[in-house]
Amino acid sequence: MITLTYQYKLQQTQQQEAEINHILDVCRSVYNYALRERKDWLNSRKSPINSCSIITEYIIPADAPYPNYNYQAKSLTIAKKTNPRLKSVNAQVLQQTLKTLDRAFTEMKSLGKGFPRFKKRMRSFVFPAMLKNCLDNNRVKLPQLGWVKIKQSRQYPDGFQAKQARVVKKATGYYLMITFTSSESAPDNPVGERSLGIDAGIESFVATSTGKLIKSPKFLLSSLREFKLLQRRLKKKTKGSNNWLKLQNKIARLHEKIANTRRDWHFKLAHQLCDFSDNIFVEDINLKTWSRGIVRKQSLDSGIGQFINEIFPYVCWKRGKYYAKVDKNYTSQECPLCGHIQKNKLSDRKHNCSNCNYQINRDVAAAKVIRKRGLIAVGHMVKEKACGDGSSGGTTQLV
Ligand SMILES: [Zn+2]
Repeated sequence: MITLTYQYKLQQTQQQEAEINHILDVCRSVYNYALRERKDWLNSRKSPINSCSIITEYIIPADAPYPNYNYQAKSLTIAKKTNPRLKSVNAQVLQQTLKTLDRAFTEMKSLGKGFPRFKKRMRSFVFPAMLKNCLDNNRVKLPQLGWVKIKQSRQYPDGFQAKQARVVKKATGYYLMITFTSSESAPDNPVGERSLGIDAGIESFVATSTGKLIKSPKFLLSSLREFKLLQRRLKKKTKGSNNWLKLQNKIARLHEKIANTRRDWHFKLAHQLCDFSDNIFVEDINLKTWSRGIVRKQSLDSGIGQFINEIFPYVCWKRGKYYAKVDKNYTSQECPLCGHIQKNKLSDRKHNCSNCNYQINRDVAAAKVIRKRGLIAVGHMVKEKACGDGSSGGTTQLV
């Protein structure tokens, strides 16, 4: 199944805007209430059995179950019957809020994130299910809000269904992020002849197994620089002042422009990569490792996750190419030629095999390893040396 997320600016009526703000506020209350409940339960288990804390004591029976998602969702359904404020908001939206909190707790454990905090304001909420025939020219039909006008900056994707929608409040207005999924379970395209390995590079945006290092285009980089400059300037302004708002607005507009240009470039790049290969292998980006350390800034700014996880598989599917993710462990440490594993420092730009003396750019080496692994996964013999990469040069447009 392929997933795509498109963002549209809402052109809501005053009444709808009030309704959105009301939903956000109720979501915030539900979130904070549920967080309080979990915190209290956790704290109640902290004091030793044979003594009481002098400072605080949480009176929760010893056999009270931990308020997990199912427990909290059930209590919400019961509370909704008598509480008019809760009643006034779509039940699924509130359940999603509880899910968000639940995820925050899971991520705290699995990704080592911090303890969830109480929210002063809620920025977004989700309609997890869409209505039938909810998409029309320049408008979308949402549960509770009805038809809402949007600025349809791009066409809805063909052959896809809207699965869920998130309403986001930003400084420049309200936005709708619609998640589309391919209507039927899209079958994998057949495996073809020419294979390409793609690595999300450190110095480049991506590197290919054919030896290309593809950098983000200059116009994007200069916009990003401008963006950072404006952000720095914003810090010096008094929060909430007229100038602050003006600058905030400018930043938001630039941000939108960057997101759009980047997206267009991602689509172009995906098509170009498809032009000379039949099988595309990418590394299964593990966001845990990626969001840490030196790589962090580059990867988040460039939107590599969106490219690898959304746009590229979509374009491959459209173009009839075989697309697969491969295990990424040690791709940067394995020699593509002899398979020898050695530790490389992040600062080493070149792969320099201590076993067979093979020397090549580090990102390209990783792309070659990815290609090799992809071929093994689909059951092809690895004939790296005999037949090359299945594509010759002449791909200079990829810059
Ligand atoms: Zn080697």
